[in-house]
Amino acid sequence: MSDSFSPACPRCGNTESVPRESKFFAILGICIIAFGIANIFFIPPLGIGSIVLGIVVLAFSPFAKNFRQCRKCRKIWKAKI
Ligand SMILES: [Zn+2]
Repeated sequence: MSDSFSPACPRCGNTESVPRESKFFAILGICIIAFGIANIFFIPPLGIGSIVLGIVVLAFSPFAKNFRQCRKCRKIWKAKI
């Protein structure tokens, strides 16, 4: 039995993943909002959608715990502890 915490990726089964906590989701949310603002004049539905998504991610970020991101396929999922 291995005691190292490395849950397998639910998409590709890869066991190499990195932890993702609140700060990562806060930065991700800000990046999505910035992307939305940059696009709102060119593709308004995409811009508005991105800003809304960014706000949701940013609002959710303080509650983000025990998330992992796969090193292979970049999938983010919630690890069960
Ligand atoms: Zn994966």
